Amino acid sequence: MPPLLQMDGVTMAYPRPQGRVVVLKEFGTTIHEREFVAIVGPSGCGKSTLLRLLGGLVPPTNGRILYKGQPQAGVNRECAMVFQSFALFPWFTVRENVELALEALGQDRKTRRARAKSYIDRVGLGGSEDAYPRELSGGMKQRAGLARALAVEPQVLLMDEPFSSLDALTSITLREEVIHIWEDREFSVHTVVMVTHIIEEAVELADRVIVLSPRPARIVDDLIIELPRPRDKRQPAFNEYVDRIFSKLA
Ligand code: ADP
Ligand code: MG
Repeated sequence: MPPLLQMDGVTMAYPRPQGRVVVLKEFGTTIHEREFVAIVGPSGCGKSTLLRLLGGLVPPTNGRILYKGQPQAGVNRECAMVFQSFALFPWFTVRENVELALEALGQDRKTRRARAKSYIDRVGLGGSEDAYPRELSGGMKQRAGLARALAVEPQVLLMDEPFSSLDALTSITLREEVIHIWEDREFSVHTVVMVTHIIEEAVELADRVIVLSPRPARIVDDLIIELPRPRDKRQPAFNEYVDRIFSKLA
């Protein structure tokens, strides 16, 4: 069986008036089925770019990205993205935002409606289907973002700093729910790749943490978090992981 996702010699450069910015240079890594991978690194190092490449939202300048052994060709429909900014359309209701994601799957209206309703309920937003994003708290907006991602029944959930703009209490609850979504076979998602700049969040949630250098991003550490779940932040072992990652970022 080929690995789930593989990046091989990936270079990504953006054109700029003052010359191109190289964000990734001959970057390689492999992500396996059932992993929960956290990617941490300094601001601007290329984390969001990496996630967009993994989801096939942008093609690399050079190199190969393979999904289940096949080269990525355009947006990968088995991956879904959750954004820090929620990325909801403000002029659409929660239900319409979720249904819109389903249109790309070519489902009829009735099926879309039922599927959207089911996922809105499952993320705890039942009763808010007809609300507009501006009427929702940050936590509820991110629940809507999650419902939209889950409704396409992806295998891989790509999350870009999903809890960074939420208050502490809301993010505690949503982190637990993401673990549940990943562990529970009732959901299609079996693999999660999460970008975060919060090191404690990476150690709390992930099986594996990839630590990146400043741009162009290189892997400066790739470690397995061997702590039982649910994880206790007060444990010395927890803090040893946090300290190790901090030292690599310094
Ligand atoms: P991170 O998520 O780690 O903060 P990004 O992947 O968003 O980093 O960005 C890495 C670098 O690439 C930054 O310098 C950013 O300004 C630049 N960049 C990102 N997206 C684009 C784009 N579409 N066009 C030009 N430059 C970009
Ligand atoms: Mg980013």
